[in-house]
Amino acid sequence: MKKTVVVIGGGYGGIRAIEHLKDRDDLEIVLLDRHPYHYLQPEIYDFIANKSEISDVTIDLFSLCEGFGESVKFFKRDVLDIDVKEKVVITDIDNFKYDYLIISAGARTNFNTNIEGLKECTHGVKSLKRALEFKQKFESAIYRKLEAEGGVCTEKFNIVIGGAGISGVEIAAEMAYYSREFYRNGAFNCDNINVYLISSQKTVLPGLDKYLIEKSTKRLLSLGVKIITNKKISKVEQNAVYFNDGTSID
Ligand SMILES: Cc1cc2nc3c(=O)[nH]c(=O)nc-3n(C[C@H](O)[C@H](O)[C@H](O)COP(=O)(O)OP(=O)(O)OC[C@H]3O[C@@H](n4cnc5c(N)ncnc54)[C@H](O)[C@@H]3O)c2cc1C
Repeated sequence: MKKTVVVIGGGYGGIRAIEHLKDRDDLEIVLLDRHPYHYLQPEIYDFIANKSEISDVTIDLFSLCEGFGESVKFFKRDVLDIDVKEKVVITDIDNFKYDYLIISAGARTNFNTNIEGLKECTHGVKSLKRALEFKQKFESAIYRKLEAEGGVCTEKFNIVIGGAGISGVEIAAEMAYYSREFYRNGAFNCDNINVYLISSQKTVLPGLDKYLIEKSTKRLLSLGVKIITNKKISKVEQNAVYFNDGTSID
């Protein structure tokens, strides 16, 4: 009799595990995910910068599992609990018995609780929903700015990216590039969107190779990104970021 493997989470971890197991004829594989899609997290910067669409950052898990063959079934379920003694996964709809369980449910952003307002007043891209909300808010803000300015160019538009590791650098570059292209294509004259990239260290990409740091810094500056180093964010409000040295950006 075949054994059942239940996989919780259709991210990179879960899918890779299924790829390894799918040809075993002694196994039946059940994939559970609360979303019907695999989310391509590393591609999200292009999506935010309007270089790609939702269909470019998602893969339908039903089709993906169908492609793996008959031994793999996908169910859109929110996993609520696991009864390890009885070997049962409890979901929002029904329960799944397993012989083997793979938990590949990913991670959640750990909003640093020492920074007041961080969770309430910032955007994240860890989930597709939050990335989409950010993109929509960004575009609405650009539209409001265009409507309000009428050639006077007084509307402030500052985007602050906290953290200059790989993700921060990538998103800063994409947003700066997007802004530049937006103004170039539309021939709008109020080209005053500022992208700030904050590093608490001496450079961007701290800890990486010196060559990479120098090359990335040069590219960021050429895109107009304003790099701020040696500062730590201490507080965030809806329209302002405060630093440990008493300065702020609004
Ligand atoms: C913006 C961004 C860019 C990145 N760029 C890179 C990169 O360039 N290179 C790189 O190597 N890594 C990159 N990463 C990291 C990489 O995306 C993660 O390491 C990877 O996604 C982790 O895979 P995972 O399978 O563990 O989790 P995830 O991909 O997060 O998948 C977890 C899955 O579990 C599901 N799930 C969670 N809880 C439940 C539940 N209770 N019930 C049902 N389903 C559940 C979720 O819906 C999700 O589909 C990036 C991450 C981000 C956010």
